[in-house]
Amino acid sequence: MINIPKGTKDVLPSQSYKWQYIEDKARAVAKRFCLDEIRTPAFEHTELFQRGVGETTDVVNKEMYTFEDKGGRSVTLKPEGTAGAVRLFIENGLFSSPLPVKTFYITPAFRYERPQSGRLREFHQFGIEVFGSAAPETDAEVILAASEFLKELGIKQVRLEINSIGCPECRAEYNKKLKEYFKPRLGELCETCRTRFESNPLRLLDCKEEECKKINAGAPSILESLCPDCARHFERVKELLKAQGVEFTVNPRIVRGLDYYTRTVFEFVSDRIGAQGTVCGGGRYDGLVSSLGGPQTPATGFAAGIERLMLLMENTGAEIPKPTKIRIYIAGMDESSRSAAFTIARELRQAGVAAEFDHMERSVKSQLKYADKVGAEYVAVIGEDELATGVVSLKKMATGEAVAVKINDLCAYLKKE
Ligand code: ATP
Ligand code: MG
Repeated sequence: MINIPKGTKDVLPSQSYKWQYIEDKARAVAKRFCLDEIRTPAFEHTELFQRGVGETTDVVNKEMYTFEDKGGRSVTLKPEGTAGAVRLFIENGLFSSPLPVKTFYITPAFRYERPQSGRLREFHQFGIEVFGSAAPETDAEVILAASEFLKELGIKQVRLEINSIGCPECRAEYNKKLKEYFKPRLGELCETCRTRFESNPLRLLDCKEEECKKINAGAPSILESLCPDCARHFERVKELLKAQGVEFTVNPRIVRGLDYYTRTVFEFVSDRIGAQGTVCGGGRYDGLVSSLGGPQTPATGFAAGIERLMLLMENTGAEIPKPTKIRIYIAGMDESSRSAAFTIARELRQAGVAAEFDHMERSVKSQLKYADKVGAEYVAVIGEDELATGVVSLKKMATGEAVAVKINDLCAYLKKE
């Protein structure tokens, strides 16, 4: 017996409706926000993520599934959706189409991490990316889309935290201040943070080690280093969110794990799913398109982790209604009525009704037992009499109530019910 790889999960037939439910909600929200779906390959040239996600990030440093294919090229399973979306945008010349280009995706993502609750090696994201707009309205819209998606799922126990990490100019200033603050404390930081100190001081604030977190608490806030343009932009985003009734707190410690962010960054966080509390994260990334070879194009987006959302929904009692699988089960007695059951099921199916019949050569009694077990909504038994009269007794399983319905009228009856 060969087992499933560590950190991956099957979706079982009895559970897939939950995935469909969440994906349907994602698509519905995307539609209302006028976003078009994009799909990018599961693997890309490794360089795309090295340049796109950033050499100094955990994702690129430690977590990528990178391998050489038979042609000797280095390829990587996508660890996130943005880099591929940006490549798609540039490679297909979408910068020449009417802006903004508003996109969304639902995709698996792969990261070599230590598997634990809410942390998998293959997980799934619903993400949106909006290209071309530098306006604070777009930041607010992207946050609102995430917020409505969570609301639509019945998730209430999350809070929105936002921050601005400025532009390259104010960030350079801030990095200097951070280095001044951390320099005398270097010895108390974890090993990773000591390397971050040199390569990307901003990322020091993202450390999850308790000791580092304590030290981080005293670090200067980026908000004091924002240049006037960035400060104005952030004020406007906050105003717009308030005007839309979106609650948030400003958390100057949010920097996000990936290198490409500029200005607005945000996370939806919950205390109800353990240590991996971020269910959705995103922000603005005005420099990424140009750094990957496209024309200067501002952009903003988010990605929500579907497994974490599911966990949160389970832990907070947000319900996912289980759909009826079999609307009607048609049981057959002998060979000719079994053929009739097959034909009736086929006709009903062609009319859009989920109809089922016996595939196991069971007795009528066992067929009925099966129909009950699998939760068929209605059951009809076909025998000689029913074939002769063209009328069946249609039993509603939930109530035990039965009505006589003409076989030819079954479809109309079920559609009306
Ligand atoms: P974390 O803080 O867990 O390391 P991250 O900052 O690496 O998250 P992002 O790159 O922002 O995460 O990804 C967006 C979302 O994808 C996260 O908020 C989370 O919901 C989900 N996610 C990220 N990594 C994993 C994983 N290994 N397993 C399951 N979900 C994940
Ligand atoms: Mg991570």
